[in-house]
Amino acid sequence: MDPVLADDLSRLPDLLQSARDFAAEEVTGIAERPVARPGGRPGPVPLPSAGIGAEGALARFAERWAPGFSGSAGPRYLGFVTGGATPAAVTGDWLTSVYDQNVSGGGDSFATALERETLGWLRELFGLGGEYGGAFVTGATVSNTVGLAVAREWLGERLGVDVSREGAAALGPVDVLSGSPHSSVTKALSVLGIGRDRLRTVPLLPGGREAVDVDALAAALESLGGRPAIVVANAGTVNTVDFDDLRAVAALKERYDFWLHVDAAFGGFAALSPAYAHLVDGLDAADSVCVDLHKWLNVPYDAAVQFTRRQDLQVRVHHNASPYLGLPSGEPDFLHLTPENSRRLRALPAWFSLMAYGRDGHREIVERNVALARTLGERLSETAESVLVAPVRLNVVCFTLAERPTRERVHAMADAIAAGGETFVTPTVLHGTHALRAAFSNWRTEGADVERVVDAVLAGAARAEP
Ligand SMILES: *Cc1c(COP(=O)(O)O)cnc(C)c1O
Repeated sequence: MDPVLADDLSRLPDLLQSARDFAAEEVTGIAERPVARPGGRPGPVPLPSAGIGAEGALARFAERWAPGFSGSAGPRYLGFVTGGATPAAVTGDWLTSVYDQNVSGGGDSFATALERETLGWLRELFGLGGEYGGAFVTGATVSNTVGLAVAREWLGERLGVDVSREGAAALGPVDVLSGSPHSSVTKALSVLGIGRDRLRTVPLLPGGREAVDVDALAAALESLGGRPAIVVANAGTVNTVDFDDLRAVAALKERYDFWLHVDAAFGGFAALSPAYAHLVDGLDAADSVCVDLHKWLNVPYDAAVQFTRRQDLQVRVHHNASPYLGLPSGEPDFLHLTPENSRRLRALPAWFSLMAYGRDGHREIVERNVALARTLGERLSETAESVLVAPVRLNVVCFTLAERPTRERVHAMADAIAAGGETFVTPTVLHGTHALRAAFSNWRTEGADVERVVDAVLAGAARAEP
């Protein structure tokens, strides 16, 4: 054994203690470190030929890199939709690395059963029945991709084509209909060989809504003349957290032949609260469902889950068995369900957090985040400098400059806010208006943070000139 490696092996408990001490210090300071770290990166150093050991590597990391990491796990990072990591989730994540299980098949470890138990809890949390098969993936983009891959296979079933063998081209042009799809849906269509241009956006409800107009969707389906299609319904859009009427969309199945995929990346968490669960009413009518976990479940990156009613088709797409062995029977191993073969036990952080805080603890995070978003919305709309560009429907505040919200000024404001280090919000365009989004999804955020965010936004607005 390399002597440095042998030395590390002999001191492993001490090394873990050093890592623990460093992590404890970092995580304790997370609320006060600069929320964003634009620029000023260190240059590269050459690959060492002789190593310096884990303790030396930790010292170098602490010196060169750690100070430049963002406070994205902290309470005032409101860009994109960014969750933190609960204490229990971090514990589970550390142990994931310690055990280093490969959750591809089930023969040698309890790990597969643990992932299945966690999937069962998540199904329950989102009100999905036992008919849904599930699997952990790295994020909602992959979850959407897997759901749409199963949809593509289903189209083949309807049209008498075996897509997994003949390829997507054998389907001819595919129609994908959606109101306000997330950008990852077009990416998935590209990856799947369906093509980005096959996405047809359907008109939205009037009044600045981002929810699909179900009558317009019916008309678009009607125009297909009986050809089966894919509908992507959206449960929580990133700008205004609007929800398609999932029940009404699903009811169109009585008249039209389509696969219903629901992107509930973070909106799915509305199901945790009796006050907001109506927003995802009908989720259990979907053929496939995408939910992100590194957002509102507050587990570390990377984790999401995908559910589908047609695990048989999912296996047709992803199975890794030799053709002469045939398709796996019974409960398929995870390597037959997703693009990966070898897989990290990314269920463990979720298992820990759900075991530690339960349904109630996670509901409280969701409800507190929504209440804080409402407060920020009220506070910003009371100022002379900013206006809301949409009502605060759930956990995102979409706002802009009260005067001349040009692209330049709004981006200058975003840059000034980021440079201030107090908070981080991300620019967007809503129905042609340049705006900023503040998304609440971190378990640490409290009322005092909102006041600091208001101050930071006003300071940023003052620097948005000219
Ligand atoms: C974040 C998000 C995605 C993509 O998620 P990743 O985890 O970044 O892959 C897809 N859809 C919606 C609605 C999202 O909010």
